Parts: sequence; C-alpha cells; structure tokens
Amino acid sequence: MTLQEIEYYVENLPYLSYQQRRILKEEALDLELWGEKHITDFLPTQEELEGMQKNQVKTVFNNAVSQITQKRRTPIDYSTFNPSYDFNERKPNIIADFKAPEKILGSCPCPKDGELTRCCNLKTLDAVQQCGFACAYCSIQSFYSNDEIKVVSDLDAYLDRLLLKDLNKETVNKETVNNEIWHIGTGQASDSLLLGDDFGTLSALGHFAKRNPQTIIELKTKSARTNWLSLNLPRNIVSTWSINAKTIVEKEEHLTASLNARINAAKKCSQENRLVGFHIHPMIYFKGWEEEYSNLVKQLCDNIEVNNVVMIGLGALTFTKQNLKALRESGRPTRVTQMELTPIAGKFSYPMEVKKKMFSFVYNEFPQEWKEKVFFYLCMEDPSLWMPCLGREYTNNAEFEEDMKNHYLAKINS
Ligand code: SF4
Repeated sequence: MTLQEIEYYVENLPYLSYQQRRILKEEALDLELWGEKHITDFLPTQEELEGMQKNQVKTVFNNAVSQITQKRRTPIDYSTFNPSYDFNERKPNIIADFKAPEKILGSCPCPKDGELTRCCNLKTLDAVQQCGFACAYCSIQSFYSNDEIKVVSDLDAYLDRLLLKDLNKETVNKETVNNEIWHIGTGQASDSLLLGDDFGTLSALGHFAKRNPQTIIELKTKSARTNWLSLNLPRNIVSTWSINAKTIVEKEEHLTASLNARINAAKKCSQENRLVGFHIHPMIYFKGWEEEYSNLVKQLCDNIEVNNVVMIGLGALTFTKQNLKALRESGRPTRVTQMELTPIAGKFSYPMEVKKKMFSFVYNEFPQEWKEKVFFYLCMEDPSLWMPCLGREYTNNAEFEEDMKNHYLAKINS
C-alpha cells in the first residue's frame, strides 16, 4: 500500500480517535517497509467494521496493535527479507568547491542536559556533508539534501582559524587551545573515508593533527579504502570502522563495503602499525544475533593486532522522531523499524533488557587480553547499562571523557 492509500484507508475507519488513527498509520507504514503484510491483514474489512459497534471496533484495534507489538518484540527474521529495491539509483553529485560555513565544528547528538546518556563529549567536524552509502537506519541521509555531497574546500584555512577559536569562547590564546585535548570525529556528517583524500580532506586533517599533537582525530568508515595509507597521517589520527553482524551489513547497510572488506582494510591499516578502532553499532536484535555477533568478535580477534586497537564502542539501534518519519515516508524496504521503539532520552530504541542482553553478550565474547588492552565503551547509552554490561561505570560524563582521552593518548604516544 502506498502512503496515500494508507492515509485514505485509516482516515475512513469508523469510530477511531485521532491517537488511534495515528498509531495505525505508523504501524501500517512500518508493515509496508518490512514487506510481509499490510495493515489490512490485521483488521476486518471496511464493510465489516462499518457494521460494528464502537466498542467492537476498539477491540479489533487493540488486537491488531497487540499482534504487531508481538512481532516487534520478536527478533527480526532476515531470512524472508530480500528487497528488490535498487539502492544504486541514488547517485549524489559531489560539490567540491563548498566553502566552510561559520560553524562546521559541533558536538555529538547526546542530550545536553541531565546526563541522560553517558556522553564522551566528542566534537564533530562536518568536513564532508552527506554520504554516498545508503544504510537504512542512517539519519544523515535525511538531514542533508539527498542529491549532493558537499566537500569543504577550504578545510586547511578553517582548521587554522580553530587554533585561535574555541567552541564556547570567542577567542582564546593559541597556547590554551594547544593545552586542551580535543577529540574530534569526522564521521557524524558523512563517512570519513568515502572520498579518501580525493579532495584533500585527509591531508588537511593530517596537517592540523601534526600541529596539534594533543588533538585526537577519529575517522569513522564503512568503506574499504586504504589508498590514503600512503599519506602517512600522524598517529593522533585514529581510523575506526563501523562494523556489524554479516546479515545486517548485507541487508541494511546498502552500497557499503562488505564486512570482510572492512576488516581486511582495518587489518592492512593495523599492519602498517596505525591505530584502529571499531564501532559495533547499531547493534540489531535479529534471529541469529548471538551467533553472528560472536563470529564478528572472533573475526576481529583473529585478524587485528590488539596492541593497535584503541577502542571498541557498542551501541544499539536508536531513532529520532524525524528519522522515523523520514524512513516511513521514504518507502524504502527495511526491517530496522521492527523493534519495540521504546522512548529513551528523547529518542526511540530497544527496551533496556534487550540492550543489556546484547551489550553484555558481545563484551563477554572478547578475550581477556582485549578487555585489558582496549578501551570499551557504550556509545550514547543510559549510564545504568555500564556496570551490568562492561563491569565498570563513571559517575558523570566528565569522568568518562577524561578516561577515554587518557586511554587514546596512551596508545597514541606508545
Ligand atoms: S555510512 Fe554512515 S553516514 Fe553513510 S549512510 Fe551509512 S550510517 Fe549514514
């Protein structure tokens, strides 16, 4: 059913309140994305409904919602999901003469008040805006125009200006900035290695990192590019790969490099004695998740030299309201929304019990040596999950931030 058909159908159901129609519409749109059933399969026909009393309609509504909720609680079955959608049809143009707007340095999307999530206070640098990959759950794609990838062309000059400016203060002297430890990520507005150094982005970052040895620059990618290794970037540029269970890579992370290709790229990087890291994020609760995440951990440990691994971040699939709306309206097939969508810190994610199960399982799959030598953390997650999942916790975000930076710098300087 199309968006219009769903709207027409739901609007014409008798007796339902505004809230009930809204819920049914969302359920109907999600069912279309999952590609198995339509909302009409859960309700009597229009004629039957019209012949019912108000309380009977209420009962059929509740039954329909409860059947779909049951489905959301069950791990996703990807064995029946083989969409024929052509993700290759998305071919954004590259705009390479984009001058840096006043602010391309920002902060991570954790809520700023109340420490609802344990946040490392990552600064984000939007050196490239929009991505050429097509991960189903991605919020970046709907944030920027879908037709173009903008590459900041004056990044060197912009970063120079940063030496004299701080995020919160108008001006600070050069020495103050140099004494601060900045942790900057470039993978929050695009994929950090999608374009490699084709437009000089990595060279500009390398130049900045060399002049600011106290700065940690973190690249994050789902690509398998390694030609940038010849740039000999300074050691305070850490390359990280976003990895996931093989099924998730194949069914939901469209146009990205395969899992093997990503791990081989990380291996090559580590073999050149460069520091690497991994984001096992967003973890997804699907049929076979334990076996596949266990295989993922084994593959990492078999291929990557632990002494070169700086960090491993774990996080669960999470949506903003806008992200869900865009996904539902796009009509692109996916099963990522087949989850309970529990409200948490202004977003929607798995219930805490599911998160606890997944994070502690993955962490416990790592051998002791990895647990001792690598900085493990939960990314943008509820602080109460740390102790049961990782066996340690912080009393506040500042403590986490400091510990993380100290671990990174210890590896960088080793
Ligand atoms: S690689 Fe990252 S930025 Fe690109 S589509 Fe996937 S999640 Fe979005």
